[in-house]
Amino acid sequence: MKQYDPQMHTTEHILNQTMIRMFGCERSFSMHLEKKKSKCDFRFDRPLTGEEEQLIQDKVNRVIALGLPVTEKHIDMSEAGALFDISKLPEQSIDSVRIVEVGGYDSCPCIGEHVENTSEIGAFRISTTSYEDGVLRIRFKIDR
Ligand SMILES: [Zn+2]
Repeated sequence: MKQYDPQMHTTEHILNQTMIRMFGCERSFSMHLEKKKSKCDFRFDRPLTGEEEQLIQDKVNRVIALGLPVTEKHIDMSEAGALFDISKLPEQSIDSVRIVEVGGYDSCPCIGEHVENTSEIGAFRISTTSYEDGVLRIRFKIDR
């Protein structure tokens, strides 16, 4: 199992929830997280405007600045199946599923490492976004 950088990984959760809340889209279907820079791909219907990029960046930074606790809990598979899309979870986690919560902001099944509090993350910056064939790619960095 690949271990992601905890700060980037927690940021990805916040970015996903921000996209859901702002645009009603799904969580990113593909991502590549590195310590220095990362990207997330979303199914989307158009490119973002510069103003929207700024709004997303501001919103993610406001959530980070709230200093939300990042916690985990385990729930059984049947309960998880009713609440979340668990189709992407690895097969060995069949009995129970780990749900990672970022304060009251985001909650999703995840097996990676996260920070304990969003105050540990730093400042989120969108580098660029692009759009092609129904896929919106957001590239971002963290200023630590
Ligand atoms: Zn995670």
